[in-house]
Amino acid sequence: MYCMNCGVKLGQGEEKCPLCGLKAYHPDLARTPGPSLYPREWHAPEAERSGWRYLLTVFFLVAAGACAIVDFLLKEGMTWSGFALAGLATGYVILVLPLWFTRPNVVIFLGIDFTAVGLMLLYIDLKVQGGWFLSLAFPVTALYGVLVTGFAAVVKYVRRGRFFQLGGGCIVFGCSAMLLELFLHITFGTRMFAWSLYPVAILSTVGLFWILAGLIRPLGDAIRKKTFL
Ligand SMILES: [Zn+2]
Repeated sequence: MYCMNCGVKLGQGEEKCPLCGLKAYHPDLARTPGPSLYPREWHAPEAERSGWRYLLTVFFLVAAGACAIVDFLLKEGMTWSGFALAGLATGYVILVLPLWFTRPNVVIFLGIDFTAVGLMLLYIDLKVQGGWFLSLAFPVTALYGVLVTGFAAVVKYVRRGRFFQLGGGCIVFGCSAMLLELFLHITFGTRMFAWSLYPVAILSTVGLFWILAGLIRPLGDAIRKKTFL
C-alpha cells in the first residue's frame, strides 16, 4: 500500500500516512493491524544529544567564569557581571536543561522557562531598584507563562477540536494585550487603550475564523486538506 498523496510506502495497518498525514483508507481493502513502517516520533540519537549538552554546558560555564573574572579584575566589585550571570543562567535553563532529559515534556519545561525568566527579572529589578517587578514583570511573566503553558498542554493532550483550540488561543492571546497595557499603565502611567485594541481586534477576527472552520464542515474540510491539521 502506498500513500496516494506523497507516494511513501505504508504498513498494512496504517490509518494515515506518517509523512503527509493523508488518510490511508480504501473501502475495498481490509485493514490488517500491524506495525508501522516508520517511528511515530523522531528523537535525536542519544550520542548527538549528549555531545551538545556537554559542549553547551562548558560554553555557559566558560562565559560565566569569564564575566565574573573580567568584572573582578576591573575592581569595580561585581557590578555588571551579576546581570550577565543571571542572563546566562536563564539561557542555560531554557536552551540546555531540556537536553539532559531523554523525552523532555514541553509543558513542564515551558513552566520552568517562564519561572526562570521571572526570577531573572526579579533579580534585575532588585539590583536597579526599578520598582517595576510587582506591578509589571511578575504579572506579565505569570500571565504569559500560564497562557503559553496552558495552550501547549491543550495542544499536547487534547487531540480533538484543533480548530477550536487554535481559535480560542488566538482570542485569548489577543485579549491578553489589554492586560499587558493595563500593567504598563499602572507601572509607568502610559495611556490606556492606546494600542491594545488592535491586537484584540486582529487576533479575535483570526480566532473567529478558526472557530467558524470548526463549526462549518465544508470550510474545515477544505482547510484540513490543504494544511493536514
Ligand atoms: Zn503521504
